[in-house]
Amino acid sequence: MEYYSSQISKLIEQLSRLPGIGAKSAQRLAFHLINMPLCQVEELSSTILEAKKNVRYCSECCTLTDSDPCPICSNPKRDHSVIMVVENTRDLAAYEKTGKYEGVYHVLHGAISPLLGIGPGDIRLKELIQRLQKDVRELIIATNSSLEGETTAMYISKLVKPTGVKVTRIASGVPVGGDLEYIDEVTLLRALEGRTEL
Ligand code: ZN
Repeated sequence: MEYYSSQISKLIEQLSRLPGIGAKSAQRLAFHLINMPLCQVEELSSTILEAKKNVRYCSECCTLTDSDPCPICSNPKRDHSVIMVVENTRDLAAYEKTGKYEGVYHVLHGAISPLLGIGPGDIRLKELIQRLQKDVRELIIATNSSLEGETTAMYISKLVKPTGVKVTRIASGVPVGGDLEYIDEVTLLRALEGRTEL
């Protein structure tokens, strides 16, 4: 890195901390940013700052939102008695893109992983259980079909069953280990329609 001036090196180093950005991409991005007109760089940095300052967790479904409750939770046309449990906001977006799901969501922000030391207390499970005190008809568990996703699904199922709420799991049309966000809409809908009771 010492081939570059200290400020360029610092920029490259900061960029390379972002997920999916290796050393080469970080260099390319850094030089791209430096060559951009100042007003565009200012716009980019203020967009990042504003998003960071204003985006928070929805007090109902825990998704990331800049208005609380989020637009889905505050929509009276959605069926609030059906809750789809997803691992993250990107998975929520994948299902929203299908335009066919009319219930609401609950975003866990992770999955249980004994290997990584992520326990039930580290994801938004408490918030989910609290929501079950309201009128909930069905809980659709749409965590990924990875080991962590399956572990989480089983954990939630065991926890929720005694409350009498119907718990279903999306069908395995979703490839094993597959992240929901990369799966096409038809497959997602098929997985939702083919869900089975746990
Ligand atoms: Zn919400």
